[in-house]
Amino acid sequence: MMMSKNDILRKIPQVDSLLQELGDSNVRAKDIRAVLNKLRSDVLSGKIAEIPSVDEILSAAVTKGNESSTFGFRRMINATGIVLHTNLGRAPLPPEVAKHVAQIAMGYCNLEYDIETGRRGSRMSAIQNRLTKLCGAEAAVCVNNNAAAVLLVLSALCAGGEVIVSRGELVEIGGSFRVPEVISQGGARLVEIGTTNKTHTSDYVKAICDSTSAILKVHTSNYRIVGFTEEVGITELSEITKESGLPLIYDLGGGALIELSQSEPTVQKTMVQGVDVLCFSGDKLLGGPQCGIIVGKKKYIDKIAKHPLYRALRMDKLTIAALEGMLMMYENGKASEIPTIALLTKSTDELKVDAEKLINILKPMTEKFSVSIVETSGQVGGGSLPTEEFPSFAVAITTEAMPLQELEHKLRQWDIPIVSRIYREQLLLDVRTVSCADFYVIADAVKSIFGGCL
Ligand SMILES: *Cc1c(COP(=O)(O)O)cnc(C)c1O
Repeated sequence: MMMSKNDILRKIPQVDSLLQELGDSNVRAKDIRAVLNKLRSDVLSGKIAEIPSVDEILSAAVTKGNESSTFGFRRMINATGIVLHTNLGRAPLPPEVAKHVAQIAMGYCNLEYDIETGRRGSRMSAIQNRLTKLCGAEAAVCVNNNAAAVLLVLSALCAGGEVIVSRGELVEIGGSFRVPEVISQGGARLVEIGTTNKTHTSDYVKAICDSTSAILKVHTSNYRIVGFTEEVGITELSEITKESGLPLIYDLGGGALIELSQSEPTVQKTMVQGVDVLCFSGDKLLGGPQCGIIVGKKKYIDKIAKHPLYRALRMDKLTIAALEGMLMMYENGKASEIPTIALLTKSTDELKVDAEKLINILKPMTEKFSVSIVETSGQVGGGSLPTEEFPSFAVAITTEAMPLQELEHKLRQWDIPIVSRIYREQLLLDVRTVSCADFYVIADAVKSIFGGCL
């Protein structure tokens, strides 16, 4: 006997059960409802006599919620497994922080307004105390990014003088941030000491003279010198600078507020060792918006904030909103909910379950391609923790239907562009950096690219 329309309608899944299937995602119930309503009307009009699978319904709902392809600057799916991918915008913000940013963006705010007195206030007032408490510093000031922070610190504290740096720390970060050039741009002279692999305390002591304005230590964020090496630690450097009355400046780069790796001391631990001025990025290991955070002794921070360059490099209101939201998450013990932290600390067991989930969504389409799970070894990216391995899992696609380069290109051209990589004749979709909701976008893309063989 033919199924009645009512029987078919009864097979349409509930919105709640579909939402549950997606778990923690940004898919809106509204989009799911719209897809289900369309199904209902298609059944009633006799257009369809069978309800599609749950996966297909979810794919349609996810795609519906993502109709942003007319923007040139848009959301993408990062299937590289690199959590802090500089070209893909580094740290994704937590939803609760993004919501606060949207609120601030849509109206007026106390950017430089003191609500108590009704007079002009400080741009730093909302984040100053939070930063000093979290970092264990006397004062704080923030600018547009960490490159700006280093330039500002050098301009304010070192212009006209000499800055001592170990040859092992003359770093270049992607996008033309080079320590020697930043020092000269800041109006100071670089005094290189030691050698590439070894710098001793005596090298620093010997280099200090009347024209020395600071000792600068730079975190070798994107490389490590291993083997026959020696560098002078912060504690020893701070003994030298205390004696000579010079500021000890440290460009920490990544700047974690919670312990993520044995080899990477947190901002708090670094401050305790005696740094006078410390700068780090807001969108690296902190997991927040692009900004440069400068913390340290009040007398130096005051000087930095008064420098004319500060006006040119200061943070905008949306960044302040995002940064304050991030700092509150750390204050409230919710660091594990920060996407960057959550992605970096995901266990291989969880990643494997995710990979299996993606495979199960792709499997029903395997006529024109085959899928398997492979182990991968990722990096943090963003010039952080360069020697740390992050084992993960990827879904590997192989196919005879088209060259892998073409598949990779087509995924990249998708409405929500999907970035994958080709390795050993397989197209890899690393699941560490992809939300479960986006599995359905990937499925939708793969299905269309292979000509709807589902
Ligand atoms: C990343 C990094 C920078 C540049 O920071 P941005 O936030 O990208 O401007 C500067 N110094 C070090 C040591 C870094 O790791």
